Amino acid sequence: MTSKIAVLPGDGIGPEVIQEALKVLQRLSTVFKHDFHIEEGLAGGAALDVVGVPLPEETLKICRSSDAVLLGAVGGPKWDTNPSPLKPERALLGLRKELGLYANLRPAKIYSALLNASSLKKEIVRNVDLLVVRELTGGLYFGEPRGIERSHGQEVGVNTLRYSESEIDRIAVVAFEAARKRRKQVCSVDKANILETSQLWRKVVSAVGERYPDVPLTHMYVDNCAMQLVRNPAQFDVIVTENLFGDILSDEAAMLTGSIGMLPSASLGGNVAMYEPVHGSAPDIAGQGKANPIATIASVAMMLRYSFNLQAEADAVERSIESVLAAGLRTGDLYQTSSSETLLTTSAMGDALANAI
Ligand code: NAD
Repeated sequence: MTSKIAVLPGDGIGPEVIQEALKVLQRLSTVFKHDFHIEEGLAGGAALDVVGVPLPEETLKICRSSDAVLLGAVGGPKWDTNPSPLKPERALLGLRKELGLYANLRPAKIYSALLNASSLKKEIVRNVDLLVVRELTGGLYFGEPRGIERSHGQEVGVNTLRYSESEIDRIAVVAFEAARKRRKQVCSVDKANILETSQLWRKVVSAVGERYPDVPLTHMYVDNCAMQLVRNPAQFDVIVTENLFGDILSDEAAMLTGSIGMLPSASLGGNVAMYEPVHGSAPDIAGQGKANPIATIASVAMMLRYSFNLQAEADAVERSIESVLAAGLRTGDLYQTSSSETLLTTSAMGDALANAI
């Protein structure tokens, strides 16, 4: 199989973690006999420095003609004082918009070797393996009218929560399809006891659910879900929810697992999906070989699973992460000095993961 991947290393630790992800892809192509055709593009500060814009047309062209996009991270102090349209982070918004990415997938999985890294008790986080599917382009963050106006002698802030049937239908489809690749359970999260938007959400998600009789659907109010995530997070497989609720719940779920260096993500929607670690460019550790590449390598596993439908290959990458952690190998963000762990550089961790496949 030949797949074309647009690779955008970006800034800070972005190029460092991407280099390790490329090692893993190289190893996969040897073991599983696939041909991954890699084309690199400039994004973020790296693009600003060379061509003066955060998302050059050339980069978009590379992305549009690829089967998937793998991004490192963008941003850094060098560009912090740039005017808004010339900030590196604008590359992310531009990619989401241009590629029509309306679904954000964020898994939170506990690796047994890292049970102690969670801020919750081991008994609570053991067996957590969930996926938050967040609607990314609708809801309160985009609804009109919006703004701050003067009314009766004081300022009043306005935002609008609006969802159409088609927006809800398509995100629900993403959730059910993702569930079919997992443990086949969907929990739709809303506030249907108060919000009309949520009542429509519940109706449309239920209708989509009838098209997936093999995937049981449950509904939960968002306040209860926030509570259940810290009370009994192992009960969840796929959680699907609207933009604002998803923003908050995906961060809450992420914290169950310990380090930000472990968290992958996918943004789906149009023909080309984008995969990236949840973390940023970490300027405080950039260039020092300290970055944990696992979030990016786990993002590669998501790419194999969701864009290329290569389940065995995705499983192999995830197993390599599990086994390397079980062997006590750690980058600095996970390392505990008092234990029998081995501290590795970014590059040595990449080698260990690639060799474990
Ligand atoms: P950050 O995620 O870059 O870093 C937060 C903390 O986590 C830092 O202490 C960092 O050293 C640590 N960390 C992050 N990733 C790590 C890894 N892989 N291994 C080990 N430690 C890791 O967030 P920040 O400091 O708020 O932002 C830094 C820059 O990144 C800013 O310019 C911000 O705008 C940008 N940013 C970009 C993205 C993205 O590209 N998707 C996301 C978030 C922030």
